Amino acid sequence: MYDVTVIGGGPSGLMAAIAAAENGATKTLLIEKGKKLGKKLAISGGGRCNVTNRLPQEEIIKHIPGNGRFLYSAFSVFNNYDIIDFFENLGVNLKEEDHGRMFPVSNQSKDVVNALLSRMDELHIEVKKESPVETVHFGDRCHEIELKTKERIQTKALVLAVGGKSVPHTGSAGDGYVWAEKAGHTITELYPTEVPLISQETFIQQKSLQGLALRDVALSVLNPKGKPIITHRMDMLFTHFGISGPAVLRCSQFAVKQFMKGHRPVHMQIDAMPDYKENKLLEEARKLMQQHPKRTVKNLLKGWVPERYLDLLLNKNNIAIEDRATNTAFEKIQQLIHDFKQFTFTVHDSQSIEKAFVTGGGVSVKEIIPNTMGSKKMDRLYFSGEILDIHGYTGGYNITSALVTGRIAGTNAAYDSMA
Ligand SMILES: Cc1cc2nc3c(=O)[nH]c(=O)nc-3n(C[C@H](O)[C@H](O)[C@H](O)COP(=O)(O)OP(=O)(O)OC[C@H]3O[C@@H](n4cnc5c(N)ncnc54)[C@H](O)[C@@H]3O)c2cc1C
Repeated sequence: MYDVTVIGGGPSGLMAAIAAAENGATKTLLIEKGKKLGKKLAISGGGRCNVTNRLPQEEIIKHIPGNGRFLYSAFSVFNNYDIIDFFENLGVNLKEEDHGRMFPVSNQSKDVVNALLSRMDELHIEVKKESPVETVHFGDRCHEIELKTKERIQTKALVLAVGGKSVPHTGSAGDGYVWAEKAGHTITELYPTEVPLISQETFIQQKSLQGLALRDVALSVLNPKGKPIITHRMDMLFTHFGISGPAVLRCSQFAVKQFMKGHRPVHMQIDAMPDYKENKLLEEARKLMQQHPKRTVKNLLKGWVPERYLDLLLNKNNIAIEDRATNTAFEKIQQLIHDFKQFTFTVHDSQSIEKAFVTGGGVSVKEIIPNTMGSKKMDRLYFSGEILDIHGYTGGYNITSALVTGRIAGTNAAYDSMA
């Protein structure tokens, strides 16, 4: 009989097992389906392992739009700064990059994963790899884990840390939801977040902007009344199927939620010149046209936005490449400048949950005790990481949530096993 068993060797499971063993669970077991531990952690942050984020706690919570506020009590016990100390104490020096993102100085994700594995070794945590769990039989005095091989393992306390449904080749394929339901939990609707969006607009179908990146634009998702629901100022990218890039990933869950409400297509808007007011731009354009009436509109406005984007907007406003300022109605220029500020287009869908970086939805946090990660439905059962209905933006926020909830779940599972 094990004191604590953790199912899932991602960041939350590894941290849960370490926390359990550090807090007195002498017989701790970690069960992992795959050959390797921390597979998704290793590919995070572009393969350099974005372990956490250094922004203040309030900002971290804001960057976890999926139930971030649920983490307040967990953060009062173990937060992003504790994660930084934890890794530095294990000998992994970290550095800060843009937007507070923290990476190992070595830029090698294996250093982070190896540090976790060495700590597990030091604590004599038993690891069973290549051991997919088939199901869990919950009991009054102990829980029994059944592997695919039919082997059964008994444990006093159990942490489910099997992740969400996204990028299943890393191992997280949504196996844990049925076990959670079996224990009496509600699984809120699952949906893709941090995911590229698909558009049927002609300019996308014709691939006229494919490969073009717009830098530092303000991208918004609009509600059916045309009002912005959310705006993110970052880079974005046009692809052969639609749009991607940091601003799109951050906006994606808000578009997906509109689809889920039956609104399809969803309108989105690009402000390609967010530092300038529309009337100032218009004044400047008017001045240029008066000073250089013989020059083409395209030539006068070249450099205001990237050329291929300018071509698209000129075309949309029926201004030919060779049209000169003097021959172009000012109303057309007005509309063109308006498009620089508020180009509106539609998206029809997102890529699948399997292709998303993160899974939205999961084990309802209403049924989880926030300062222990314990189940309100089943004694000695704990949840941590992406299996929970908690999701953040990429940038270290999901990993922070996974490590923090793992720490709390493992610690409290250890206390339970000793009770
Ligand atoms: C390409 C990519 C880049 C990302 N970049 C970032 C980023 O920059 N910042 C950020 O915050 N987040 C990022 N994320 C998200 C982040 O990696 C995840 O949110 C985080 O790994 C979740 O941790 P977890 O421990 O809950 O689950 P996972 O890391 O998914 O681990 C779950 C583990 O459980 C195991 N498992 C599943 N089913 C079973 C079973 N039946 N039996 C035994 N074991 C099982 C799996 O094999 C897996 O090892 C990224 C995700 C991807 C895919």
